[in-house]
Amino acid sequence: MGRMNRAGFALTWIAAVVLGDSGLFEAAGGEPEKVQGQAALKPVSAEARRVHEAGMLFDGHNDLPWKLRMDGDMSFKVIDISTRLKSGHTDIPRLREGGLKAQFWSVFIPSEFEHPARTVLEQIDLVRRMVARYPGDFELATTADEVEGAVRRGKIASLIGIEGGVAIEHDLSMIRIYRDLGVSYMTLTHGKSLDWADSATDDPKCDGLSTFGERVVKEMNRVGMLVDLSHVSAATMTDAIRTARAPVIFSHSSAYAIAPSLRNVPDDVLKLLPANGGVVMVNFYSAFVNPAAARRATAIQAELRKKYPDTRDMYKAMGENYKKDPLPRGTVSDVADHIDHIIKVAGIDHVGIGSDFDGIESCPEGLEDVSCYPRLTEELLRRGRTPAEIHKILGGNVLRAFREAGAASERLKKTTEPEVDSPPAMKM
Ligand SMILES: [Zn+2]
Repeated sequence: MGRMNRAGFALTWIAAVVLGDSGLFEAAGGEPEKVQGQAALKPVSAEARRVHEAGMLFDGHNDLPWKLRMDGDMSFKVIDISTRLKSGHTDIPRLREGGLKAQFWSVFIPSEFEHPARTVLEQIDLVRRMVARYPGDFELATTADEVEGAVRRGKIASLIGIEGGVAIEHDLSMIRIYRDLGVSYMTLTHGKSLDWADSATDDPKCDGLSTFGERVVKEMNRVGMLVDLSHVSAATMTDAIRTARAPVIFSHSSAYAIAPSLRNVPDDVLKLLPANGGVVMVNFYSAFVNPAAARRATAIQAELRKKYPDTRDMYKAMGENYKKDPLPRGTVSDVADHIDHIIKVAGIDHVGIGSDFDGIESCPEGLEDVSCYPRLTEELLRRGRTPAEIHKILGGNVLRAFREAGAASERLKKTTEPEVDSPPAMKM
């Protein structure tokens, strides 16, 4: 991040904070950290690079599309991501350096935005244009086979994940329409509870999922769209796993037992994953991975929520707070602790990587941007993980879950009808 234009980057985050972006914790504003850590770390070993390249790094969440919107260029003419950018975490040269093979690009929508469906459609359009504009580097993928095909052709398989169930505007047909447009997952909520699903960071409205929320999960399973349980409350997680007929994912969540952020996954939910087949993709944000940072961020947020009922005001206050007194930064070792814990509780088949790059303002030391992933592989090797285990963590597990969700969709399409709500009969 030393390469970043400090002023530009801070501005992005302030804008994001005001708009309630990946917000509660993830984009809570403040100055980007300096890179003292990265310079001090030794280079990644040849062995770690070999193991890393032989695997298929498949990241669950990157907020570049929202960052481009906030930076005011959705055309790729001003911000050309084929060049090494001076701000942000993501561009093609750094993606290639980091050995990324497949990415769920987040199409995010703040819970408070007007016109959520239209905004999400614009973000989907942005990702599809990004893929079309850089055909030597990206290829759109909507199934597990398409992911593998793109990777074989040397492209970064590019998938679309909606962040925030407000995107469907209470209309089940939108799930089918989004899937037809190439959407591969939807995070049921963001920071606010919906009237059909509770968020981890808001007051509950329906004690988990409502009956309509269960129908959302069923329809997502039927069309082969992964159900993403990052951001939702623990009750929503368990309701969704109970309802699901396919593996769920947590596209960018870490483990609560290691760092007590309300956004992280508790052990009793981790224990449900072997039966479901689901995968928790570990988030890199310092306030989700570092125990002291998680405790402080949670306490600050609880206090500010009481003071500022409008979440946009609260985000702004949080940003100012972190600017004055930055949270402790995480480390590569913190991230590996979450991976180890998820393996201990749920098993080696249920963990992945969901960095949240460009949706977070504080990265762990050594994981400053998308070029840094091999450093995590090195740490896993150092901890005695075998290459086969590391390949499951990097992407094998989520690819397997996505393939199973595709197979479940084929079965469900034969045995179930689409979820449809008809308006009352009317005469014109
Ligand atoms: Zn998020």
